[in-house]
Formats: sequence, structure tokens, C-alpha cells
Amino acid sequence: MKLNLVHLYPDLLNLYGDRGNIMCIKKRLEWRGIECEVKEVLHGEYVNTDEADLIFLGGGSDREQEIVCEELKKNKKALIDYVENDGAMLAICGGYQLLGNYYQTKDKKIEGLGILDIYTQWEEERLVRNIIVNSDLFETPVVGYENHSGRTYIGSYKPLGKVFFGLGNTGRGDFEGVVYKNIIGTYIHGPLLPKNPQVCDYMLLKALRKKYGEDVELEKLDDEIELMANKCIVDRYSEEKNRVAEAIKRRI
Ligand code: GLN
Repeated sequence: MKLNLVHLYPDLLNLYGDRGNIMCIKKRLEWRGIECEVKEVLHGEYVNTDEADLIFLGGGSDREQEIVCEELKKNKKALIDYVENDGAMLAICGGYQLLGNYYQTKDKKIEGLGILDIYTQWEEERLVRNIIVNSDLFETPVVGYENHSGRTYIGSYKPLGKVFFGLGNTGRGDFEGVVYKNIIGTYIHGPLLPKNPQVCDYMLLKALRKKYGEDVELEKLDDEIELMANKCIVDRYSEEKNRVAEAIKRRI
């Protein structure tokens, strides 16, 4: 088996170690003897979705998103068709926002791909912290780091999960990310995939099953260290959450 990974605009969208997601995808395929070819699409280049089994779109500053927006316009139809035909895509933070109709920044409206009928609104206070999300897609919580000014309103779409610790889509600490067909959009940097091998394998399975059929299975890997690291974060912030709850109770 071979997986073609298309990395969109790594020269513009690459925040907080997002490239670690690409390394993780490659490594987890290599460990299973599955070939992986990464095709980087740079600013100004054409996106050939026919050669993509998985598309990755990382995070970026508002200024970079504005440039990417012009690029995406040229490739909008191909990307919409790709997703509607069950193509797998992972979009992080700035990339997640660009899946929607628009991102209204302080002074500009950045047009998105319109793949999802969602939108993002800039607010003054930047949301920066560690985040833990419980998702019904995974047994293990999804952990990572968020850093965004945008608040994303996903309407009736399915969120990736419920925020256990952190702020998430709208900054209210309720829901985080979005899931639609074979896409995940999320605010979680970290990078996301090395900290959450369950999310990596979910995306790989979506991509490989689309290409090779529903009976594809992924060989189980020894994730002891990754899961220990994940648990360490969950434990640390569970304690912090309890301490805050106790302090609030004392004040009341
Ligand atoms: N520029 C966007 C925001 O601040 C996305 C940031 C990011 O990708 N981390 O909301």
C-alpha cells in the first residue's frame, strides 16, 4: 500500500510544530511497511487533488491566512469535490478556519473554502493554553495546545469533542473542532498527531480505506510511550481543574 500525502502551503501555514504532524504520519506508515510520499504544494502552485489520499492544512497568522485565501480560491472547486467524494483531510487552527465560509479578522474578511457552512469571528482576547478534549471517536482523550484569536461557530455540525480542559471553538470551553465526512478540523496544535496517535491512525485508516477498500486494517503499534505522555498531560490538567474548582467552592 502507498499513501500520498499532500501538504498544503507549508511555506505559509506552519505554526507551533505543525510539521511534526507530517513526520508522525510518515513514521507511523513506515513502521507498518506502508510507503508514504509527501507532496508539498507551495505558494503559487496548483493543487492536484487526484494525487492526494490525505491533505494536510496547518495553522498560520492572520496575514498568512490572507495570502493562502487567494491561493485557495484558485483551487476551491477541486478541494470541495475532493471532500465531498470522501477525501481525507486534516486542518489545524488557521487551516480549520479556512474550511469555513469566512474568517472575520479585526479589519478584514478572509474568504474561506466554504467546504463547511461555518464561520470564524476574531476577538481581542487571544486564547492560548493547553487543551484536552474528549471525543466519541477515540478512547483516549485528545491533548494539545491552542493559540487563536478566532472563535469558530460550527452550527449543527458534529464537533470533534467536548472540552475537558481549555477553551475550544468559541472560547467558552464547551466544544472543540469539527468532523465532517473524512475531514477533521481542529484548533489543536501540539503538534496534534505525535501527542495523539489515535487521531493519526484514524486519519490514516480513512485515507487507506478510501483508496484500498473498507477491509483495510492497520497493524497495531507499540504506543506505550505516546500514551504515557498523553496520560501525563491529562493527569496534570485534571489536578489543575480540581484545584481551581476547590478554590471557587471556597470563595463561594
Ligand atoms: N490566525 C488565526 C487566529 O489567530 C489562526 C491561528 C493559528 O493558526 N494558530 O485565530
